[in-house]
Amino acid sequence: MKLHEYQSKLIFARYGIPIPKGRVAVTAGEVKQIAEELSCPVVVKSQVLVGGRGKAGGIRVARSPQEAEELARQILSMEIKGLPVRKVLVDEAATIDKEIYLGITNDRAARRPVMMASAAGGVDIEEVARTDPSKIIKVHIDPLLGLRDYQARDIAGGIDLPRDHWKTFGIIAHGLWQAYRDCDATLAEINPLVITSTNRLIALDGKMVLDDNALFRHPDLAEMRDLDEEAASETEARKYGLSFIKLDGNIGCLVNGAGLAMTTMDIIKLFGGEPANFLDIGGGANSEKVAAALRIILSDPNVKAVLFNVFGGITRGDEVARGILSALNDIKTNVPMVTRLVGTNADEGRQILAKAQMITADTLVEAAQKAVAIANATA
Ligand code: GDP
Ligand code: MN
Repeated sequence: MKLHEYQSKLIFARYGIPIPKGRVAVTAGEVKQIAEELSCPVVVKSQVLVGGRGKAGGIRVARSPQEAEELARQILSMEIKGLPVRKVLVDEAATIDKEIYLGITNDRAARRPVMMASAAGGVDIEEVARTDPSKIIKVHIDPLLGLRDYQARDIAGGIDLPRDHWKTFGIIAHGLWQAYRDCDATLAEINPLVITSTNRLIALDGKMVLDDNALFRHPDLAEMRDLDEEAASETEARKYGLSFIKLDGNIGCLVNGAGLAMTTMDIIKLFGGEPANFLDIGGGANSEKVAAALRIILSDPNVKAVLFNVFGGITRGDEVARGILSALNDIKTNVPMVTRLVGTNADEGRQILAKAQMITADTLVEAAQKAVAIANATA
């Protein structure tokens, strides 16, 4: 789950990381009022869960409350990478001398978190990472020992940070690590961390991504989820405990097991089709869950065929079949469906499905070929 900039910075502030004074608003009127309370200039910042807001014109500096109101009106009517802007953050603007990058993520290969920093921070950091990776300093963090003081100093030295900022930098680096660890984050990032013209070190932007699988331990963080920012089908899927990701193709997939779901998508592509979604109903799914999954798949108007790929183990074939029938009772659909059902209680499942208008297949290859043929014929 991604957090907005304003949410990430509030968390950072709790860990002693300096952030600008500011507040979030949903109307241009509120923005004007906030700008009057703060000292101008202020920066009006779109809050959408994508990067590159600055380059898209979603970050603007205003010299007066009137200008802030006017800019907020423009920004609140924008779409950035397809996402409508519904909120803006109004912060006291900083005059920037230098932009630094500081972030933590998991390094799977090293099997531990890695802190990364660069003196070439700001909106072009991805470009720097691609063209000149030596400009990015990396330090691995032992998850049991945590970030050590000497590591923070190594980073400060590595990015040629002036000595007078090392103490604050240490507080920021430790704060970022603590926030990352306490929140079960998979990313915590400050870009840019700036040195201002008044020689302060301060986090101008903040980004956090939290591990969905750890959210049960953090009800306060789970509440921060912005439902406006995700596809309605994904919200619905989460309600039923389904792992669902909407994609752009036209073959709906209903599969038990994440690995099998990935394989199913690969096979669809191998035969020239495009999956409309990733969907793992999970092990031991009951018929209610299967029915919800099918409803979600069929709510996508792009879907021209549905492929069920169920390998019964803990999941029972007859339960899946009952779920499919029960969903088809509620939803009237002409979308052709192909099933491949093997494993536990597959025979019972097939008997139940014989009552429905189903195309069956014995192997995944055959099922994928049939689904692709149908989808491509209707496309
Ligand atoms: P992003 O584009 O989504 O990463 O949004 P950021 O919050 O990082 O802002 C993008 C860029 O806008 C920063 O790298 C700065 O150059 C600029 N910016 C952000 N806040 C301020 C500010 O308070 N004052 C000034 N002068 N520039 C800012
Ligand atoms: Mn940024």
